[in-house]
Amino acid sequence: MDTQKKYITNNFQETQTLGKKIAIEILSQKTKNSALILALQGDLGAGKTTFLQGFAMGLGIKEKILSPTFIIMKKFKIQTSSLKMKIKNPKFTNFYHFDCYRLDKPKEILELSFKEIILNPENIIAIEWPEKIKSLLPKNLIIIKFKHFEENKREIIIDNF
Ligand code: ADP
Ligand code: MG
Repeated sequence: MDTQKKYITNNFQETQTLGKKIAIEILSQKTKNSALILALQGDLGAGKTTFLQGFAMGLGIKEKILSPTFIIMKKFKIQTSSLKMKIKNPKFTNFYHFDCYRLDKPKEILELSFKEIILNPENIIAIEWPEKIKSLLPKNLIIIKFKHFEENKREIIIDNF
């Protein structure tokens, strides 16, 4: 699991498609004994939320993932099986989307039961602006770095996956 994968996308749909593909790969992996965490790094507009829109689709979530303006965390139910889903998923039941952009102090996130959420192996957690809560993150993370090249071109590097 010490690999790095690099992708270039040329429009937002390609970034969503990549997110969907990664979700499907995650569903087919072996279970861990704590939550599965994605840390999404990159500037505003780099494509983190766009990636997560596709990622959520891959998990079978029908609600749209938005950039939370004032909300720091949103919880979604993951479907455990449906005819449409490519992979049956008996292990993950919740998807949490955190956006730490507006956090002033890392500690504030503890009020949202962050510690309990990251311990539960039934959870998949995606964190935008993980730098803001660096001291509270476990070591075992999938790090995804987004770089904004041109108007519609992005480089997306996935570490430790
Ligand atoms: P972030 O969450 O990193 O701040 P968003 O995903 O909210 O970024 O915004 C990215 C913006 O850039 C969206 O308006 C999206 O349509 C646009 N965009 C253009 N090209 C791409 C691409 N290749 N990948 C992702 N987003 C893109
Ligand atoms: Mg965002």
